[in-house]
Amino acid sequence: MTDHEIKINFKEYASINDLDKPANDLCLEAVKAMANSHSPYSKFRVGAALLLQSGTILHGSNQENAAYPSGLCAERVALFNWGANYPDDPIVAMAVTAHTEEFEILQPVASCGSCLQVLAEYEKKQDKPIEIILFCAKGPVWVMKGVETFLPFLFFEKRLIS
Ligand SMILES: [Zn+2]
Repeated sequence: MTDHEIKINFKEYASINDLDKPANDLCLEAVKAMANSHSPYSKFRVGAALLLQSGTILHGSNQENAAYPSGLCAERVALFNWGANYPDDPIVAMAVTAHTEEFEILQPVASCGSCLQVLAEYEKKQDKPIEIILFCAKGPVWVMKGVETFLPFLFFEKRLIS
């Protein structure tokens, strides 16, 4: 038997004002993206913004539906937009934020497993890590260098796409 230990590294900042300008700007775009959240059921608004290598910014927000499974997270709304329309313009970073009137969010909200899997697919496809910036209005900012921070054993099989 061999015992293994996996460590992850990420950076924490007190607020988005402590980030460099491109990262700070991207966070402000995620806040803008949140404005189009359609979340009448959960009342939990999420905004995601992607920065592409060309400088293009893509917005995503959570889109809920009366038929619950028909909705989609903010991250995948943005990521599938990228996959459908900008696949040759690599994703440099993704910022995600959330807000609700129901309670105070004091820590960044991490992406769900399905969004991380989609992010993993595209990160592998473009062969460049995507910086992930998670933040909320009243808590710290977490910055991760790539999806493997979240998914060290991520499912990706090159042989399936060859
Ligand atoms: Zn998700």
